[in-house]
Amino acid sequence: MTLLIKATHQQTKEHNRNLVLKHIFDHEAISRAELSRITRLTRTTVSEIVAELIDEGLVTEIGVGESLGGKSPILLSLAKDSRCLIGVDIAQNHVQGAVVNLRGEIKETITVPVFEHFGEKPLKHIFEILDQLVKSSCRPICGIGVGAPGLVSTSEGIVINAVNFDWKDFPLAKILQERYQLPVYIYNDCQAAAMGEYLYGGYHRKGTNLVVINVGYGIGSGIIINGKLFQGDGGGAGEIGHVVVVHEQGKPCRCGHYGCLESVASAQAIARDAKELLQFPAHLSSHELSEALILDEAEKAFIAGHPAIRDLILNSAQYLGYAIASLVGTLNIHHIVLIGEMTRFGPAWLEVIRNTMLKASLSRLANSTSIEIGKLGNHSTLLGAAALLVNNYSLLFTKNFSRTTL
Ligand SMILES: [Zn+2]
Repeated sequence: MTLLIKATHQQTKEHNRNLVLKHIFDHEAISRAELSRITRLTRTTVSEIVAELIDEGLVTEIGVGESLGGKSPILLSLAKDSRCLIGVDIAQNHVQGAVVNLRGEIKETITVPVFEHFGEKPLKHIFEILDQLVKSSCRPICGIGVGAPGLVSTSEGIVINAVNFDWKDFPLAKILQERYQLPVYIYNDCQAAAMGEYLYGGYHRKGTNLVVINVGYGIGSGIIINGKLFQGDGGGAGEIGHVVVVHEQGKPCRCGHYGCLESVASAQAIARDAKELLQFPAHLSSHELSEALILDEAEKAFIAGHPAIRDLILNSAQYLGYAIASLVGTLNIHHIVLIGEMTRFGPAWLEVIRNTMLKASLSRLANSTSIEIGKLGNHSTLLGAAALLVNNYSLLFTKNFSRTTL
């Protein structure tokens, strides 16, 4: 019985601490009185928690705020460099890792191209990056967040299925945890990117729900509801890339089906078709004639008004517009953000997506939906993987890492 009371007391304490920390995180600067008002905790409780957070170095006093009659309040702020996180983005052609602070500011970044995609080979590149990043001068490091392609089970720490890497039930979290002795969390790359845009793209302060669609070499999305990542019952929420959209004579998709959204609207699909439409010197080897190079040329042709390339890109935008209309009808989320390689086709591409979405959904729902291009460039997955660690406030407890590493 005593043990039970003790446990409950500890849980309440932890809950209150996380609550205070969350609000300090959500504000540039905030006073103890304001924290007490928002959290509905007593001033004494807030003061005790704040004293602990200051002692742990997580929070600092940054000066005095405006007086509302009485004494000017002391303002508190998150000590953004007091903890570091490592984010890793395992993409189609490269692995990128970064050390970031609590405000998502990148301190150090390493990118390694990936040529060998199968089995444990990409691991070599992940190790290469992490071996260097864990030695970063930014300390202490609270954990490693990884954005991986394919279906992921965050709770089990496994990549259930990633077609490109030939990974099936791959225990990535365990492998990294054992090697680096740090907490490791694995997320689907698009879901991580969604959290990155939410937390560091300015959405969390407004508390809006958000859908982030990655239109890159693959297509997928991440859904944030009430500030939390919605992963679905099997971890695959937002996997819109493999919904079949071309019902007759669709092109083969890497998932084994034909006519998936990815087979017509992804950067990979555009590179495949643009290669046929554009003239490339015959002497270029397939290695030299990479998808990235073809996309660069396709972008130039698109801007120059090449009719067949414009048709190809804008037709792909239509398919996306229909897919987004389904999301709007299902979720009625007002903010949709597009990220990934295909955003290079800019306003003309975006306009076709938006117009198609407007035509294909209930106007009452569609009119209040905004579709924008993301703000974090190609860093959203990286930052998101780290951001998901920030969302787990317990990781920021001092007890989780050895003081000797400070
Ligand atoms: Zn597919």
